[in-house]
Amino acid sequence: MTKLELEPRPSGGSAQSAVRVDSTGLPEFTMTGGPLEVSDRVLRALSRQTLYHYDPLFPDIYRDTTKKIQEVFQTANDAIIMHGEAVLGLEAAAASMVEPGDTCLNLASGPFGKGYARHLVRHGARLVELEVPFNQSVEPDDVRRLLEREGDVKVVSMVHSETPAGTLNQVEQICGIAKEFGAVTIVDAVSSVGGMQVRPDEWGIDICVAGPQKCLGCTPGSALVTVSDDAWEKMRSKSTPLRGSVLSMLDMKERWIENGRFPYTPMTNQIFAVNEALTQLLEEGLESAFARHSAAARACRAGVKAMGLELWPASEDIASTCVTAVKLPEGVDDGELRGIMRTRYGVMISGGHGDLIGKLFRIGHMGQTARFSHVLVALGALERTLVDLGLDVPLGAGVSAAIGCSTSV
Ligand SMILES: *Cc1c(COP(=O)(O)O)cnc(C)c1O
Repeated sequence: MTKLELEPRPSGGSAQSAVRVDSTGLPEFTMTGGPLEVSDRVLRALSRQTLYHYDPLFPDIYRDTTKKIQEVFQTANDAIIMHGEAVLGLEAAAASMVEPGDTCLNLASGPFGKGYARHLVRHGARLVELEVPFNQSVEPDDVRRLLEREGDVKVVSMVHSETPAGTLNQVEQICGIAKEFGAVTIVDAVSSVGGMQVRPDEWGIDICVAGPQKCLGCTPGSALVTVSDDAWEKMRSKSTPLRGSVLSMLDMKERWIENGRFPYTPMTNQIFAVNEALTQLLEEGLESAFARHSAAARACRAGVKAMGLELWPASEDIASTCVTAVKLPEGVDDGELRGIMRTRYGVMISGGHGDLIGKLFRIGHMGQTARFSHVLVALGALERTLVDLGLDVPLGAGVSAAIGCSTSV
């Protein structure tokens, strides 16, 4: 079998000389910002025979999947599945809700938050932005001050876990404040749902979007979304409500939820896989999955610090539990570091994204990879790689610190 080229090859010559991957050329471990490796159960579900979407079996499977989305999102709000990547759900939220001229407050503490503004603006928003350096998170009090100053803000958008920066925003406090001011909230919880508490009903998240390929442990290919009554109301009250479009959330409500007809052909095999991933998570129990993600994150942070590396987030209090972002050490080339980790030691990790390219690298611990064993493998591969790159790192320091900080995950 020919070797797959999944990532640009490292620029340095040395990394290419000792290739160690399995016979298919695939990495042995995928611990990135997502997608990450998935369970055998999910893979088997994906490979089930394709069903016609109005086969008597399929609508029941679809309904069961949206019911499980509500359970995993811990919400009584409607659940819909948008058939595209997670960003489709995020863009659809702006397209469906923003009325031209609406003042929209966008919170930016990383590349995904910053990037969201374009969707708001494209659909006619008058944009107000609160941006903080991308190693920090947004202060809820600053959000309150802006809402007071602006008066009539209709929409507040934010990211929960800023995956490219490895940081968390205080969604509970921020959404609480936004609701006090009568705004509807859009939360990019793409990487947080399934890995940490996200509570749309208690926190006031009107549109909550998750990606199956992050902490939910599934393959990419859909946006899992919950929508509150306030959000439906906002969509219906637009001067021209968005209908008859793949960006329309109202289509999902009015055709599927209310009439049992799909607006277009759903990706049936993706639904099988999402259903299986959600079932697996619910069998484990949400609390136990959250604890597993936190423990993996703690072990990972302890490991990288013990190697003498610095975490990217300004403080550990705001570090995400689904991904550990680490400052790129002086003189180390990001592509070379990741190239050696993958080709010599079989572990695929992520570099920076957007403005953060070349500043940091990231070890993802989400879904199936949020485990002690996976974190130890990533740390072992990382310290060996740093030594290969000529850095003065005592071999075993990171792994040993991780072992010391956590008993079992
Ligand atoms: C992964 C991710 C996205 C993008 O998801 P896609 O599936 O690529 O559309 C958006 N926001 C956050 C926070 C993410 O982690």
